[in-house]
Amino acid sequence: MASTPLIREPELYARMRDRKSQPRSVYSMQKPPRPFPVSVRVAPAAKADAASANFHFTALPPLSLYVHIPWCVRKCPYCDFNSHEAKGAIPEREYIDALIADLEFDLPRVWGRKLKSIFIGGGTPSLFAPESIDRLLSALRARLPFVSPDIEITLEANPGTVEQGKFAELRAAGVNRLSIGVQSFDADALERLGRIHGAKEATRAAEQTHAAGFDNFNLDLMFGLPGQTPHAGANDVATAIALEPTHISYYQLTLEPNTQFAARPPTLPEDDAIAAIQERGQQALGEHGYAQYEVSAYARADKQCAHNLNYWTFGDYLGIGAGAHAKISDAQTQSIQRLWKVKNPRDYLAAVPASEYVGGESALTPADTGFEFMMNALRLNDGFETRLFAERTGLPLSIVEAPMALAQRKGWIEVTSTHIRATAQGRRYLNDVLELFLPEPNGSVG
Ligand code: SF4
Repeated sequence: MASTPLIREPELYARMRDRKSQPRSVYSMQKPPRPFPVSVRVAPAAKADAASANFHFTALPPLSLYVHIPWCVRKCPYCDFNSHEAKGAIPEREYIDALIADLEFDLPRVWGRKLKSIFIGGGTPSLFAPESIDRLLSALRARLPFVSPDIEITLEANPGTVEQGKFAELRAAGVNRLSIGVQSFDADALERLGRIHGAKEATRAAEQTHAAGFDNFNLDLMFGLPGQTPHAGANDVATAIALEPTHISYYQLTLEPNTQFAARPPTLPEDDAIAAIQERGQQALGEHGYAQYEVSAYARADKQCAHNLNYWTFGDYLGIGAGAHAKISDAQTQSIQRLWKVKNPRDYLAAVPASEYVGGESALTPADTGFEFMMNALRLNDGFETRLFAERTGLPLSIVEAPMALAQRKGWIEVTSTHIRATAQGRRYLNDVLELFLPEPNGSVG
């Protein structure tokens, strides 16, 4: 439901590369650079070039699991996710069997490691019966140890697929966090977005979440919708806040390639109007105790999304299901592998032997790794602890020394004795900041 951000680095990476070859007109909109007093300190002996650096993991990153359910009632015109309109009955039983076989095939990659979170996303996972989710979670528990019995287990739900009692059954199955793809509470906006639910269903889904005993749930809300006024945008945020979720993902509608909206673009509000909507929304969220901790994520105290935080701090994750992506660090081979599963649900279901679930695999180079770490960690308002770079990448921070210094001079990142983070200006022009970290063809960074 194009909701909680899926991390799809290979696609993002490709887009960043494309962007690098485009004229950089956005630079003309930026204020003059303002240097920060603290510079990146790297001992000369520790300096290393990304082209010649080697991975050296002393400990492996935390491990999460993403499960992809690829079907929806209808394809939304703005959606570029791997989601498919369900024509006829969904082969639920077969798909759960396939997910379990897929996980079993992946297990040797993570022997001895424990899961810290699970995210069941889509598509529309709430189309599946709670019994199917129960069978899936039981199978996961039997095959992979959890770091604790109460790890975060999120399931994405579409308000148009919520029958009475379903959330309580999902809760009983072990789901302890819901992410509800509301997008808007405005009837006209929902219709223009092609959503299958109306404003009443959205409100009812949130109410049922409380009634089912969930003390942790997210609402997805979009802004910059076709025809949206600042007043309508403010109403959406106020309505979301009144429903008392613990977390709100608040993000801008963008026209992505290969979507119906890209082919027949709707009329979106002017940039200034979008900025005004966003500013009002952010202000209201802040005033009601939702602290922004990432580009699009706002949470009440201690209710940040553990699963997404693992992505943003460059943790590892398995990915099972059609088109799911994984990133796994390996201390034995001192490498980081990315792999992805075959995208089309029909091909995925037909995969025999299990090795055919894998659609592709590649090893990250040190230069790619430095860039990808920054691409994730600089999204966080608090940035990252300096030591985390070496812990999660297995590489010395010095491989990104040159672009870090440049970003500092431009006033885009701030470096303290313990932390590195994007400044407010850096977060505003994050793509430009990240461009500095893009590897050159010779494998060096920046
Ligand atoms: S509900 Fe719409 S936006 Fe969400 S995954 Fe399905 S098609 Fe995409």
